[in-house]
Amino acid sequence: MKHAVIVGGGISGLSAAYELDKAGVPYTLIERAPSLGGVIRTNRIGGSTIEAGPDSFISQKPAALELIRELGMADQVIGSNDHQRITFLQRHGRLVPLPDGLMMMIPTKVWPMVKTPLFGWGTKIKMGLEYFRKPEAFPDRSVAEFVRDHFGQETVDYLAEPLLAGVYGGDPRELSVLSTLPRFVEMERKQGSLTKAALLSKPPKPQPGAPTLFRTLKSGLGSLVDALRPKQTVLHGASVDALERTAEGGFRVRRGGDCIEASHVVLAGPAYEAGRLLDGRLGELLSGVPYASSATVAMGYRKSEIGEMKGFGILVPGVERKRMRACTFVSNKFSGRVEDGYEVIRCFVGGIADEGVLDLSDDEIVATLREELRELLGITAAPEFAVVERWRRAMAQYTVGHNARWEEIQGLAAKVPGLYLAGNGYRGIGIPDCIEMGRAAGRGIAAGISD
Ligand SMILES: Cc1cc2nc3c(=O)[nH]c(=O)nc-3n(C[C@H](O)[C@H](O)[C@H](O)COP(=O)(O)OP(=O)(O)OC[C@H]3O[C@@H](n4cnc5c(N)ncnc54)[C@H](O)[C@@H]3O)c2cc1C
Repeated sequence: MKHAVIVGGGISGLSAAYELDKAGVPYTLIERAPSLGGVIRTNRIGGSTIEAGPDSFISQKPAALELIRELGMADQVIGSNDHQRITFLQRHGRLVPLPDGLMMMIPTKVWPMVKTPLFGWGTKIKMGLEYFRKPEAFPDRSVAEFVRDHFGQETVDYLAEPLLAGVYGGDPRELSVLSTLPRFVEMERKQGSLTKAALLSKPPKPQPGAPTLFRTLKSGLGSLVDALRPKQTVLHGASVDALERTAEGGFRVRRGGDCIEASHVVLAGPAYEAGRLLDGRLGELLSGVPYASSATVAMGYRKSEIGEMKGFGILVPGVERKRMRACTFVSNKFSGRVEDGYEVIRCFVGGIADEGVLDLSDDEIVATLREELRELLGITAAPEFAVVERWRRAMAQYTVGHNARWEEIQGLAAKVPGLYLAGNGYRGIGIPDCIEMGRAAGRGIAAGISD
C-alpha cells in the first residue's frame, strides 16, 4: 500500500502535495486549521489587499519564483517600489534613515557612515579599523558576539537586532551567526574584514528597471496558496496527535478518533509539532527548536488625515523600549495594494523579547500602537480600520549550535524509512526555503515509490 500523509497545510506541506500530485502519488493532507496556507493569508479590507502574515519573498533564493512560473503565474509577480526604498530607524525617539551602502550591518561606503547620526564616533572608528582584520575562523557564536567583535555594541543594538527582529523575531544574543548569516561567517574566514569582503564581492549597481529584491503577487501571497490547492484529500479541523510505526514498516497516523495508514509521512508543521509526534533523541532535538510569537496589525488611514509617509517603513530597535518593533507603509512598498486616497501602516509587535503583547486584547494593542505612532510620526487621527493577526510560535529561532543539531536531526530522520521533515525549523525560515524543503520531500517520496 503506497499512500502518503502530509501533516500541515502551510506553504511547506502544500509544496510537498504539489510534487505528489505531479507524480500521481496518493496522499492525504491533514491541516488542523479551517483553511490552508499556514501563516500565509491575504485579506481584502475595503479596497485594499493586506497580508496577514508574510508580504513578500526574496528573489535571491529562486525556489518561490520557480514554483510561481510552473504554476503559470509569472505575470502576477510584482516587485517592491525600490525607488522609495528608504528604511528609517528609531533612535532616541527620532527617525534616522539607514545610511546608504550598508550590506545588512556591513558598511561599504565611508561618507554616509561618517555623516549618519545613527552611530557615535567610537563605533565609526571601530567600523573603519575593521577593514584591517586578518582572516579568522571561530566556532559557531551568537550574532551579537559576531557583530560586536567586528563593529561594536552600538551596531548590534541599532542594526543587527532590529534587522534580525524583522526576520526571526529573535534575540541576537541567542541566534546563531552560522545559521542566520552564513555568508558573513565565510567572509570572516576568507578575508577577516567583512567590509573588505563586501567591497570585493559588491554586485554592480542595479540598473533602472532591474528586478527587485522583494517580490510578491499582485493579488497577494494568498493567491499562491489558492493555486497550490491540493488535488487529493484534505482533512481539516483536527490535529494529528500521534504517529505510530506499523509492523509492516509503515505509519499509523492518529487524528481525533480516526487513524490513517501510510507508507510515507511528511511532517510539515513547526519542529516542535514534529517533536511531539516522534520519540527518543529525534523527538527531543525537534522539540528543542525554539519558536517566537508575533502579531501584525494593519491600520488603515485616509491620507488626507495623516499626510504622505516616506520610505518603506521603520525599524524600532529593542533598546528603544517600544512595543512596535517595525512598521511598513504598504502603499509605498508595493503599488496597487492600497485603495487610492488611503495608507495602510502595517505594524509588527512581539518577538522573543515581548511575547506577552499577544495576550493583550486587540483594543489594547491598537491603542498602544496609536500612541507610539503619535509620538514618532505625529499621527493623531483614528484609523478607519485596525486588524490584529496573532502568530503564536510561528517563527523558528536558529540558536547557537543549530547547524550541528540539524545535522543530527537529519541523520536520525534518515534512519526512519518513509519519514520526511519540511518546514521553517530547519534550513531557512523564508518562503523560498519552505517551498524548497516541501518540494524536496514530495520528490523524495515520488522517487522512493517509483524505485
Ligand atoms: C508575521 C510573519 C511574517 C513573515 N514574513 C515573511 C516574509 O515577508 N517573507 C518570507 O519569506 N517569510 C516570512 N515569514 C516566514 C514564512 O512566512 C514562514 O516561515 C513560512 O510561511 C512557514 O511555512 P510552513 O508551511 O513551514 O509553516 P506554517 O505556515 O506555520 O504552516 C504549518 C501548518 O501546519 C499546521 N499544523 C501544525 N501542527 C499540526 C498538526 N499536529 N496537525 C495538523 N496540522 C498541523 C498548522 O495549523 C499550519 O497551518 C513570516 C512569518 C510570519 C509569522
